[in-house]
Amino acid sequence: MKYILALDQGTTSSRAIVFDEAGRLVVSHAQEFRQIFPQSGWVEHDANDIWHSQWSASCASLALLVKSHGGAALEGVCAIGITNQRETTVLWDRSTGEPIYNAIVWQDRRTAARCDALRAQGKAKTIQKKTGLVLDAYFSATKLEWLLDNVPTARVRAERGELCFGTVDSWLIYKLTAGKVHATDVSNASRTMLFNIHTLAWDKELLALFNIPAAVLPSVVPSSGVLGETDPALFESTGLKRSILIAGVAGDQQAATFGQNCFAPGTAKNTYGTGCFMLMNTGTTAVTSENQLLTTIGWQGTGKPAYCLEGSVFMGGATVQWLRDGLQIISKASEVEALAASVTGVDDCYLVPAFTGLGTPHWDGFARGVLVGMTRGTTRAHIARAALEAICLQSADVFSAMQADSGIALSELRVDGGATANNLLMQLQADVLGVPVVRPLVTETTALGAAYLAGLAVGVWASAAELSAQWAVDRRFEPVWSDAERLCKQERWSEAVERSRAWVKK
Ligand code: ADP
Repeated sequence: MKYILALDQGTTSSRAIVFDEAGRLVVSHAQEFRQIFPQSGWVEHDANDIWHSQWSASCASLALLVKSHGGAALEGVCAIGITNQRETTVLWDRSTGEPIYNAIVWQDRRTAARCDALRAQGKAKTIQKKTGLVLDAYFSATKLEWLLDNVPTARVRAERGELCFGTVDSWLIYKLTAGKVHATDVSNASRTMLFNIHTLAWDKELLALFNIPAAVLPSVVPSSGVLGETDPALFESTGLKRSILIAGVAGDQQAATFGQNCFAPGTAKNTYGTGCFMLMNTGTTAVTSENQLLTTIGWQGTGKPAYCLEGSVFMGGATVQWLRDGLQIISKASEVEALAASVTGVDDCYLVPAFTGLGTPHWDGFARGVLVGMTRGTTRAHIARAALEAICLQSADVFSAMQADSGIALSELRVDGGATANNLLMQLQADVLGVPVVRPLVTETTALGAAYLAGLAVGVWASAAELSAQWAVDRRFEPVWSDAERLCKQERWSEAVERSRAWVKK
Protein backbone atom coordinates (compact mmCIF):
# COMPACT_ATOMS: atom_id res chain seq x y z
CA MET A 1 0.00 0.00 0.00
CA LYS A 2 1.20 3.48 -0.86
CA TYR A 3 0.60 6.43 1.46
CA ILE A 4 0.71 10.20 1.15
CA LEU A 5 1.44 12.46 4.10
CA ALA A 6 -0.70 15.59 3.86
CA LEU A 7 0.36 18.61 5.92
CA ASP A 8 -2.59 20.91 6.61
CA GLN A 9 -1.15 24.04 8.19
CA GLY A 10 -4.16 26.07 9.39
CA THR A 11 -4.63 29.35 11.23
CA THR A 12 -5.05 27.79 14.68
CA SER A 13 -3.59 24.30 14.30
CA SER A 14 -1.18 22.22 12.23
CA ARG A 15 -2.51 18.87 11.13
CA ALA A 16 -0.83 15.90 9.51
CA ILE A 17 -2.97 13.28 7.83
CA VAL A 18 -1.93 10.05 6.15
CA PHE A 19 -4.09 9.00 3.19
CA ASP A 20 -3.80 5.66 1.44
CA GLU A 21 -3.88 5.03 -2.30
CA ALA A 22 -7.66 4.54 -2.18
CA GLY A 23 -7.97 8.12 -0.91
CA ARG A 24 -9.01 6.93 2.57
CA LEU A 25 -7.94 8.76 5.71
CA VAL A 26 -5.68 6.35 7.64
CA VAL A 27 -4.40 8.36 10.62
CA SER A 28 -4.24 12.00 11.61
CA HIS A 29 -2.84 14.20 14.32
CA ALA A 30 -3.36 17.91 15.05
CA GLN A 31 -1.42 20.32 17.17
CA GLU A 32 -2.55 23.80 18.11
CA PHE A 33 -0.13 26.69 18.37
CA ARG A 34 -0.01 30.15 19.88
CA GLN A 35 -1.95 33.13 18.51
CA ILE A 36 -0.27 36.47 19.14
CA PHE A 37 -2.28 39.71 19.34
CA PRO A 38 0.26 42.52 19.95
CA GLN A 39 -2.37 45.26 19.58
CA SER A 40 -5.89 45.84 18.30
CA GLY A 41 -6.24 44.60 14.73
CA TRP A 42 -2.83 42.90 14.69
CA VAL A 43 -2.49 39.10 14.48
CA GLU A 44 0.85 37.29 14.43
CA HIS A 45 2.25 33.76 14.64
CA ASP A 46 5.74 32.73 15.61
CA ALA A 47 6.92 31.04 12.39
CA ASN A 48 8.99 28.64 14.48
CA ASP A 49 5.79 27.61 16.33
CA ILE A 50 4.18 26.95 12.95
CA TRP A 51 7.11 24.79 11.90
CA HIS A 52 7.50 22.89 15.18
CA SER A 53 3.77 22.15 15.48
CA GLN A 54 3.69 20.95 11.86
CA TRP A 55 6.78 18.83 12.30
CA SER A 56 5.61 17.24 15.54
CA ALA A 57 2.11 16.60 14.13
CA SER A 58 3.84 14.82 11.21
CA CYS A 59 5.98 12.70 13.55
CA ALA A 60 2.88 11.83 15.60
CA SER A 61 0.97 10.87 12.50
CA LEU A 62 3.78 8.64 11.19
CA ALA A 63 4.03 7.03 14.65
CA LEU A 64 0.27 6.31 14.52
CA LEU A 65 0.74 4.74 11.11
CA VAL A 66 3.43 2.44 12.52
CA LYS A 67 1.21 1.59 15.47
CA SER A 68 -1.79 0.66 13.35
CA HIS A 69 -0.08 -0.82 10.26
CA GLY A 70 3.41 -1.86 11.43
CA GLY A 71 6.85 -0.43 10.68
CA ALA A 72 6.83 -1.71 7.08
CA ALA A 73 4.03 0.76 6.27
CA LEU A 74 6.62 3.56 6.44
CA GLU A 75 8.14 2.21 3.24
CA GLY A 76 4.86 3.03 1.51
CA VAL A 77 4.99 6.75 2.40
CA CYS A 78 5.93 8.11 -1.00
CA ALA A 79 5.16 11.82 -0.99
CA ILE A 80 4.20 14.88 1.01
CA GLY A 81 1.44 17.28 -0.01
CA ILE A 82 1.25 20.69 1.66
CA THR A 83 -1.79 22.90 2.13
CA ASN A 84 -1.79 26.01 4.23
CA GLN A 85 -3.41 29.13 5.67
CA ARG A 86 -3.07 31.61 2.86
CA GLU A 87 -1.52 35.10 2.60
CA THR A 88 0.24 34.91 6.00
CA THR A 89 3.66 36.47 5.49
CA VAL A 90 7.00 35.16 6.74
CA LEU A 91 10.43 36.78 6.30
CA TRP A 92 13.51 34.83 7.35
CA ASP A 93 17.29 34.77 7.16
CA ARG A 94 18.40 32.78 4.14
CA SER A 95 21.50 31.35 5.79
CA THR A 96 20.33 30.62 9.36
CA GLY A 97 16.66 29.86 8.57
CA GLU A 98 15.62 32.09 11.49
CA PRO A 99 12.55 34.33 11.04
CA ILE A 100 13.47 38.00 11.45
CA TYR A 101 10.02 38.87 12.85
CA ASN A 102 6.75 37.12 13.68
CA ALA A 103 4.65 36.02 10.73
CA ILE A 104 1.91 38.53 9.93
CA VAL A 105 -1.33 36.59 9.70
CA TRP A 106 -3.94 37.06 6.94
CA GLN A 107 -6.40 38.47 9.51
CA ASP A 108 -4.02 41.30 10.44
CA ARG A 109 -5.34 44.79 9.56
CA ARG A 110 -2.20 46.89 10.28
CA THR A 111 -1.77 47.84 6.63
CA ALA A 112 -5.40 48.86 6.00
CA ALA A 113 -4.47 52.57 5.85
CA ARG A 114 -1.72 51.81 3.32
CA CYS A 115 -4.32 50.07 1.16
CA ASP A 116 -6.66 53.06 1.47
CA ALA A 117 -3.83 55.34 0.34
CA LEU A 118 -3.15 53.14 -2.69
CA ARG A 119 -6.85 53.15 -3.47
CA ALA A 120 -6.88 56.94 -3.30
CA GLN A 121 -4.00 56.93 -5.80
CA GLY A 122 -6.24 54.94 -8.15
CA LYS A 123 -4.22 51.70 -8.00
CA ALA A 124 -7.09 49.27 -7.31
CA LYS A 125 -8.03 48.66 -10.93
CA THR A 126 -4.48 47.78 -12.09
CA ILE A 127 -4.03 45.50 -9.09
CA GLN A 128 -7.29 43.68 -9.83
CA LYS A 129 -6.36 43.35 -13.51
CA LYS A 130 -2.97 41.82 -12.80
CA THR A 131 -3.66 39.78 -9.65
CA GLY A 132 -7.42 39.12 -9.68
CA LEU A 133 -7.57 40.49 -6.12
CA VAL A 134 -9.43 43.29 -4.41
CA LEU A 135 -6.93 45.81 -2.97
CA ASP A 136 -6.97 44.82 0.72
CA ALA A 137 -4.68 44.36 3.73
CA TYR A 138 -5.65 40.67 3.72
CA PHE A 139 -3.08 39.83 1.01
CA SER A 140 0.69 39.55 1.51
CA ALA A 141 2.08 42.54 -0.44
CA THR A 142 1.49 45.28 2.14
CA LYS A 143 2.42 42.92 4.99
CA LEU A 144 5.81 42.25 3.40
CA GLU A 145 6.27 45.94 2.69
CA TRP A 146 5.53 46.65 6.37
CA LEU A 147 8.16 44.14 7.49
CA LEU A 148 10.77 45.63 5.17
CA ASP A 149 10.02 49.13 6.43
CA ASN A 150 9.67 48.38 10.14
CA VAL A 151 12.15 45.65 11.04
CA PRO A 152 15.59 47.26 11.51
CA THR A 153 18.01 46.54 8.63
CA ALA A 154 15.43 44.33 6.88
CA ARG A 155 15.34 46.37 3.69
CA VAL A 156 19.12 46.55 3.13
CA ARG A 157 19.49 42.89 3.97
CA ALA A 158 16.64 42.02 1.61
CA GLU A 159 18.29 43.99 -1.18
CA ARG A 160 21.54 42.12 -0.58
CA GLY A 161 19.67 38.81 -1.00
CA GLU A 162 20.14 37.78 2.62
CA LEU A 163 16.42 37.33 3.36
CA CYS A 164 13.70 35.03 2.06
CA PHE A 165 10.02 35.97 1.86
CA GLY A 166 7.38 33.32 1.71
CA THR A 167 3.81 32.42 2.54
CA VAL A 168 3.46 29.50 4.94
CA ASP A 169 3.91 26.88 2.21
CA SER A 170 7.32 28.37 1.30
CA TRP A 171 8.34 28.47 4.93
CA LEU A 172 7.44 24.80 5.44
CA ILE A 173 9.19 23.77 2.20
CA TYR A 174 12.33 25.62 3.29
CA LYS A 175 12.32 23.92 6.71
CA LEU A 176 11.43 20.48 5.34
CA THR A 177 14.31 20.64 2.86
CA ALA A 178 16.76 22.05 5.46
CA GLY A 179 17.04 25.30 3.51
CA LYS A 180 17.68 23.76 0.09
CA VAL A 181 14.48 24.92 -1.60
CA HIS A 182 12.89 28.39 -1.56
CA ALA A 183 9.69 27.99 -3.58
CA THR A 184 5.96 28.56 -3.58
CA ASP A 185 3.22 27.18 -5.79
CA VAL A 186 1.09 29.23 -8.20
CA SER A 187 -2.03 29.07 -5.99
CA ASN A 188 -0.22 30.58 -3.01
CA ALA A 189 1.66 33.06 -5.20
CA SER A 190 -1.70 34.27 -6.54
CA ARG A 191 -2.62 35.46 -3.02
CA THR A 192 0.42 37.69 -2.51
CA MET A 193 -0.85 40.59 -4.69
CA LEU A 194 2.62 40.59 -6.29
CA PHE A 195 2.01 37.79 -8.79
CA ASN A 196 0.56 38.32 -12.24
CA ILE A 197 -1.98 35.52 -12.66
CA HIS A 198 -2.00 35.89 -16.45
CA THR A 199 1.76 35.85 -17.18
CA LEU A 200 2.42 33.50 -14.20
CA ALA A 201 5.36 35.61 -13.04
CA TRP A 202 6.17 38.07 -10.28
CA ASP A 203 5.03 41.44 -11.62
CA LYS A 204 7.76 44.09 -11.88
CA GLU A 205 5.31 46.99 -11.76
CA LEU A 206 3.70 45.64 -8.57
CA LEU A 207 7.09 44.96 -6.98
CA ALA A 208 7.93 48.63 -7.63
CA LEU A 209 4.56 49.80 -6.28
CA PHE A 210 5.04 47.90 -3.00
CA ASN A 211 8.83 48.50 -2.81
CA ILE A 212 9.68 44.80 -2.81
CA PRO A 213 13.21 43.77 -3.89
CA ALA A 214 13.00 40.77 -6.25
CA ALA A 215 15.82 39.06 -4.34
CA VAL A 216 13.46 38.05 -1.49
CA LEU A 217 11.01 36.20 -3.70
CA PRO A 218 10.64 32.42 -3.89
CA SER A 219 10.63 30.63 -7.22
CA VAL A 220 7.14 29.70 -8.38
CA VAL A 221 6.37 26.06 -9.15
CA PRO A 222 3.27 24.09 -10.22
CA SER A 223 0.93 22.81 -7.47
CA SER A 224 1.45 19.23 -8.57
CA GLY A 225 5.06 18.22 -9.25
CA VAL A 226 8.16 17.15 -7.32
CA LEU A 227 9.88 20.30 -6.03
CA GLY A 228 12.34 18.80 -3.60
CA GLU A 229 12.77 16.23 -0.89
CA THR A 230 12.82 16.29 2.88
CA ASP A 231 16.00 16.26 4.91
CA PRO A 232 16.59 12.51 5.50
CA ALA A 233 17.13 13.06 9.25
CA LEU A 234 13.81 14.85 9.76
CA PHE A 235 11.57 11.91 10.69
CA GLU A 236 14.29 9.58 12.01
CA SER A 237 12.60 9.32 15.41
CA THR A 238 9.60 7.60 13.78
CA GLY A 239 11.81 4.97 12.12
CA LEU A 240 11.65 6.63 8.70
CA LYS A 241 15.32 7.09 7.85
CA ARG A 242 15.11 8.54 4.36
CA SER A 243 13.86 11.58 2.52
CA ILE A 244 10.30 11.95 1.21
CA LEU A 245 9.44 13.75 -2.03
CA ILE A 246 7.53 17.02 -1.65
CA ALA A 247 5.17 16.80 -4.59
CA GLY A 248 2.00 18.82 -3.97
CA VAL A 249 1.31 22.34 -2.69
CA ALA A 250 -1.82 24.51 -2.67
CA GLY A 251 -3.49 27.14 -0.50
CA ASP A 252 -6.20 25.71 1.78
CA GLN A 253 -9.31 26.77 -0.18
CA GLN A 254 -7.81 25.77 -3.52
CA ALA A 255 -6.74 22.40 -2.09
CA ALA A 256 -10.27 21.86 -0.76
CA THR A 257 -11.66 22.59 -4.23
CA PHE A 258 -9.26 20.01 -5.68
CA GLY A 259 -10.12 17.56 -2.89
CA GLN A 260 -13.77 18.01 -3.83
CA ASN A 261 -12.88 16.87 -7.36
CA CYS A 262 -13.99 20.16 -8.89
CA PHE A 263 -11.75 19.40 -11.88
CA ALA A 264 -14.22 20.47 -14.57
CA PRO A 265 -15.05 24.09 -15.39
CA GLY A 266 -18.42 24.96 -13.86
CA THR A 267 -17.99 22.87 -10.72
CA ALA A 268 -17.94 24.53 -7.31
CA LYS A 269 -17.58 23.85 -3.62
CA ASN A 270 -18.54 25.72 -0.48
CA THR A 271 -16.82 25.21 2.88
CA TYR A 272 -18.96 25.87 5.98
CA GLY A 273 -16.60 26.68 8.82
CA THR A 274 -16.49 29.85 10.89
CA GLY A 275 -17.05 31.68 7.60
CA CYS A 276 -17.99 30.21 4.24
CA PHE A 277 -15.63 30.04 1.27
CA MET A 278 -16.99 29.26 -2.15
CA LEU A 279 -14.74 28.52 -5.13
CA MET A 280 -15.79 27.77 -8.67
CA ASN A 281 -13.52 26.32 -11.33
CA THR A 282 -13.62 28.50 -14.48
CA GLY A 283 -11.14 26.35 -16.43
CA THR A 284 -8.20 27.95 -18.20
CA THR A 285 -9.97 31.33 -18.30
CA ALA A 286 -9.26 33.90 -15.59
CA VAL A 287 -12.67 35.55 -15.29
CA THR A 288 -12.54 39.18 -14.14
CA SER A 289 -15.30 39.75 -11.62
CA GLU A 290 -17.93 42.47 -11.90
CA ASN A 291 -19.45 41.33 -8.59
CA GLN A 292 -16.61 41.70 -6.09
CA LEU A 293 -15.42 38.12 -6.34
CA LEU A 294 -11.72 37.32 -6.38
CA THR A 295 -10.08 35.68 -9.37
CA THR A 296 -7.44 33.24 -8.25
CA ILE A 297 -5.33 30.37 -9.50
CA GLY A 298 -6.79 27.09 -8.34
CA TRP A 299 -3.86 24.83 -9.12
CA GLN A 300 -1.47 23.84 -11.89
CA GLY A 301 -0.14 20.48 -12.96
CA THR A 302 1.88 19.93 -16.13
CA GLY A 303 -0.30 22.14 -18.33
CA LYS A 304 -2.02 25.48 -17.97
CA PRO A 305 -3.36 26.45 -14.55
CA ALA A 306 -7.01 26.12 -13.59
CA TYR A 307 -8.52 29.43 -12.51
CA CYS A 308 -11.24 29.92 -9.92
CA LEU A 309 -13.64 32.59 -8.79
CA GLU A 310 -13.79 32.92 -5.03
CA GLY A 311 -16.29 34.52 -2.66
CA SER A 312 -16.56 34.59 1.10
CA VAL A 313 -19.21 34.96 3.79
CA PHE A 314 -17.87 36.21 7.15
CA MET A 315 -20.54 34.74 9.41
CA GLY A 316 -21.13 31.09 8.48
CA GLY A 317 -20.95 28.60 11.37
CA ALA A 318 -20.06 31.62 13.50
CA THR A 319 -23.76 32.60 13.32
CA VAL A 320 -24.49 29.38 15.21
CA GLN A 321 -21.74 30.24 17.71
CA TRP A 322 -23.56 33.53 18.29
CA LEU A 323 -26.82 31.66 19.03
CA ARG A 324 -24.84 29.65 21.57
CA ASP A 325 -22.61 32.29 23.17
CA GLY A 326 -24.39 35.58 22.48
CA LEU A 327 -28.09 34.72 22.67
CA GLN A 328 -27.51 31.52 24.67
CA ILE A 329 -30.55 29.82 23.13
CA ILE A 330 -28.59 26.60 22.54
CA SER A 331 -25.79 25.10 24.60
CA LYS A 332 -23.89 23.47 21.76
CA ALA A 333 -23.75 24.02 18.01
CA SER A 334 -25.29 20.63 17.15
CA GLU A 335 -28.49 21.55 19.06
CA VAL A 336 -29.41 24.14 16.45
CA GLU A 337 -30.72 21.53 14.03
CA ALA A 338 -33.44 20.12 16.31
CA LEU A 339 -34.43 23.57 17.51
CA ALA A 340 -34.74 24.94 13.98
CA ALA A 341 -36.60 21.80 12.86
CA SER A 342 -39.19 22.27 15.61
CA VAL A 343 -40.86 24.91 13.43
CA THR A 344 -41.79 24.47 9.78
CA GLY A 345 -40.70 27.94 8.64
CA VAL A 346 -39.29 31.27 9.81
CA ASP A 347 -42.71 32.97 9.87
CA ASP A 348 -41.30 35.78 7.72
CA CYS A 349 -38.44 36.48 10.13
CA TYR A 350 -34.95 37.17 8.74
CA LEU A 351 -31.61 37.39 10.49
CA VAL A 352 -28.87 39.22 8.57
CA PRO A 353 -25.70 38.37 10.53
CA ALA A 354 -23.71 41.39 9.34
CA PHE A 355 -21.98 41.49 12.75
CA THR A 356 -18.66 42.44 11.17
CA GLY A 357 -20.08 43.89 7.97
CA LEU A 358 -21.01 41.99 4.82
CA GLY A 359 -18.66 40.04 2.54
CA THR A 360 -19.20 39.03 -1.09
CA PRO A 361 -20.93 40.48 -3.07
CA HIS A 362 -21.66 43.56 -0.89
CA TRP A 363 -18.29 44.24 0.79
CA ASP A 364 -20.00 46.64 3.17
CA GLY A 365 -17.94 47.24 6.31
CA PHE A 366 -20.64 49.57 7.64
CA ALA A 367 -23.50 47.03 7.65
CA ARG A 368 -24.50 45.54 11.00
CA GLY A 369 -26.75 42.66 12.05
CA VAL A 370 -30.52 42.88 11.96
CA LEU A 371 -33.35 40.56 12.97
CA VAL A 372 -36.42 41.72 11.14
CA GLY A 373 -40.04 40.59 10.91
CA MET A 374 -40.63 39.53 14.53
CA THR A 375 -44.14 39.32 15.97
CA ARG A 376 -45.53 38.22 19.34
CA GLY A 377 -45.46 34.70 17.94
CA THR A 378 -41.69 34.68 17.23
CA THR A 379 -39.80 32.10 19.28
CA ARG A 380 -36.17 31.09 19.67
CA ALA A 381 -36.90 28.27 17.23
CA HIS A 382 -37.79 30.78 14.51
CA ILE A 383 -34.59 32.68 15.25
CA ALA A 384 -32.53 29.48 15.07
CA ARG A 385 -34.13 28.62 11.76
CA ALA A 386 -33.60 32.16 10.47
CA ALA A 387 -29.90 31.79 11.44
CA LEU A 388 -29.55 28.61 9.36
CA GLU A 389 -31.39 30.21 6.45
CA ALA A 390 -29.05 33.22 6.73
CA ILE A 391 -26.00 31.00 6.21
CA CYS A 392 -27.66 29.54 3.11
CA LEU A 393 -28.95 32.83 1.74
CA GLN A 394 -25.57 34.53 2.08
CA SER A 395 -23.97 31.58 0.27
CA ALA A 396 -26.69 31.82 -2.38
CA ASP A 397 -25.72 35.45 -2.99
CA VAL A 398 -22.13 34.35 -3.64
CA PHE A 399 -23.40 31.53 -5.85
CA SER A 400 -25.44 34.02 -7.93
CA ALA A 401 -22.45 36.34 -8.27
CA MET A 402 -20.37 33.44 -9.60
CA GLN A 403 -22.96 32.48 -12.17
CA ALA A 404 -23.31 36.12 -13.26
CA ASP A 405 -19.54 36.63 -13.62
CA SER A 406 -18.78 33.35 -15.35
CA GLY A 407 -21.93 32.97 -17.42
CA ILE A 408 -21.92 29.34 -16.29
CA ALA A 409 -25.01 27.78 -14.68
CA LEU A 410 -23.90 25.60 -11.77
CA SER A 411 -25.65 22.25 -11.65
CA GLU A 412 -24.76 21.32 -8.06
CA LEU A 413 -22.75 22.52 -5.07
CA ARG A 414 -20.24 20.32 -3.25
CA VAL A 415 -19.90 21.04 0.45
CA ASP A 416 -17.52 20.46 3.35
CA GLY A 417 -16.60 21.96 6.73
CA GLY A 418 -17.86 21.50 10.31
CA ALA A 419 -21.39 22.84 9.79
CA THR A 420 -22.17 20.41 6.95
CA ALA A 421 -22.96 17.83 9.64
CA ASN A 422 -26.27 19.71 9.93
CA ASN A 423 -28.71 17.96 7.55
CA LEU A 424 -31.36 20.66 7.85
CA LEU A 425 -28.80 23.30 6.90
CA MET A 426 -27.82 21.27 3.84
CA GLN A 427 -31.45 20.74 2.80
CA LEU A 428 -32.19 24.45 3.19
CA GLN A 429 -29.09 25.22 1.12
CA ALA A 430 -30.35 23.00 -1.71
CA ASP A 431 -33.80 24.62 -1.48
CA VAL A 432 -32.46 28.16 -1.51
CA LEU A 433 -30.13 27.45 -4.46
CA GLY A 434 -32.48 25.28 -6.43
CA VAL A 435 -29.67 22.81 -7.21
CA PRO A 436 -28.54 19.66 -5.37
CA VAL A 437 -26.03 19.94 -2.53
CA VAL A 438 -23.51 17.11 -2.40
CA ARG A 439 -21.69 16.07 0.77
CA PRO A 440 -18.72 13.74 0.20
CA LEU A 441 -17.71 10.84 2.42
CA VAL A 442 -14.26 12.25 3.18
CA THR A 443 -14.91 15.74 4.57
CA GLU A 444 -11.20 16.42 5.16
CA THR A 445 -11.18 17.81 1.66
CA THR A 446 -8.38 20.33 2.23
CA ALA A 447 -5.83 17.71 3.24
CA LEU A 448 -7.22 15.29 0.67
CA GLY A 449 -6.67 17.88 -2.06
CA ALA A 450 -3.02 18.28 -1.05
CA ALA A 451 -2.63 14.49 -1.02
CA TYR A 452 -4.22 14.25 -4.48
CA LEU A 453 -1.86 16.90 -5.91
CA ALA A 454 1.17 15.07 -4.49
CA GLY A 455 -0.07 11.59 -5.43
CA LEU A 456 -0.71 12.61 -9.03
CA ALA A 457 2.85 13.93 -9.30
CA VAL A 458 4.50 10.72 -8.08
CA GLY A 459 2.22 8.31 -9.94
CA VAL A 460 0.10 7.00 -7.06
CA TRP A 461 -2.79 8.05 -9.28
CA ALA A 462 -2.52 8.32 -13.03
CA SER A 463 -5.17 10.97 -13.68
CA ALA A 464 -7.92 13.14 -12.29
CA ALA A 465 -10.38 10.66 -13.78
CA GLU A 466 -8.97 7.98 -11.50
CA LEU A 467 -9.56 10.26 -8.51
CA SER A 468 -13.11 10.97 -9.59
CA ALA A 469 -13.75 7.25 -9.68
CA GLN A 470 -12.77 6.84 -6.03
CA TRP A 471 -14.41 10.03 -4.75
CA ALA A 472 -17.51 8.95 -2.85
CA VAL A 473 -20.70 10.78 -1.95
CA ASP A 474 -22.10 10.57 1.56
CA ARG A 475 -25.41 12.26 0.77
CA ARG A 476 -27.03 14.31 -1.94
CA PHE A 477 -29.67 16.86 -0.88
CA GLU A 478 -32.23 17.52 -3.64
CA PRO A 479 -34.10 20.83 -3.68
CA VAL A 480 -37.83 20.54 -2.94
CA TRP A 481 -39.02 24.16 -2.97
CA SER A 482 -40.95 25.45 -5.99
CA ASP A 483 -39.38 28.24 -8.06
CA ALA A 484 -41.98 30.66 -6.66
CA GLU A 485 -41.06 29.77 -3.07
CA ARG A 486 -37.37 30.20 -3.81
CA LEU A 487 -37.78 33.56 -5.54
CA CYS A 488 -39.98 34.85 -2.76
CA LYS A 489 -37.40 33.82 -0.17
CA GLN A 490 -34.58 35.52 -2.08
CA GLU A 491 -36.61 38.70 -2.47
CA ARG A 492 -37.47 38.95 1.22
CA TRP A 493 -33.82 38.24 2.07
CA SER A 494 -32.64 41.07 -0.20
CA GLU A 495 -35.05 43.43 1.56
CA ALA A 496 -33.66 42.36 4.94
CA VAL A 497 -30.07 42.84 3.70
CA GLU A 498 -30.96 46.39 2.59
CA ARG A 499 -32.09 47.12 6.15
CA SER A 500 -28.72 46.01 7.53
CA ARG A 501 -26.65 48.28 5.31
CA ALA A 502 -24.88 51.53 6.15
CA TRP A 503 -25.78 51.20 9.83
CA VAL A 504 -22.41 52.36 11.20
CA LYS A 505 -21.98 56.03 10.45
CA LYS A 506 -18.67 56.99 8.82
P1 ADP B 1 -13.19 26.27 11.24
O1 ADP B 1 -12.34 25.38 10.38
O2 ADP B 1 -13.51 27.60 10.65
O3 ADP B 1 -12.75 26.36 12.67
P2 ADP B 1 -15.08 24.02 11.30
O4 ADP B 1 -15.07 23.48 9.90
O5 ADP B 1 -14.43 23.26 12.37
O6 ADP B 1 -14.64 25.55 11.31
O7 ADP B 1 -16.63 24.23 11.69
C1 ADP B 1 -16.99 24.79 12.90
C2 ADP B 1 -18.16 25.77 12.71
O8 ADP B 1 -19.32 25.02 12.36
C3 ADP B 1 -18.48 26.55 13.96
O9 ADP B 1 -18.69 27.89 13.63
C4 ADP B 1 -19.76 25.91 14.49
O10 ADP B 1 -20.61 26.86 15.10
C5 ADP B 1 -20.39 25.35 13.24
N1 ADP B 1 -21.13 24.11 13.51
C6 ADP B 1 -20.66 22.98 14.07
N2 ADP B 1 -21.63 22.04 14.15
C7 ADP B 1 -22.74 22.61 13.61
C8 ADP B 1 -24.09 22.15 13.38
N3 ADP B 1 -24.48 20.92 13.71
N4 ADP B 1 -24.94 23.01 12.80
C9 ADP B 1 -24.56 24.24 12.42
N5 ADP B 1 -23.32 24.72 12.62
C10 ADP B 1 -22.43 23.92 13.20
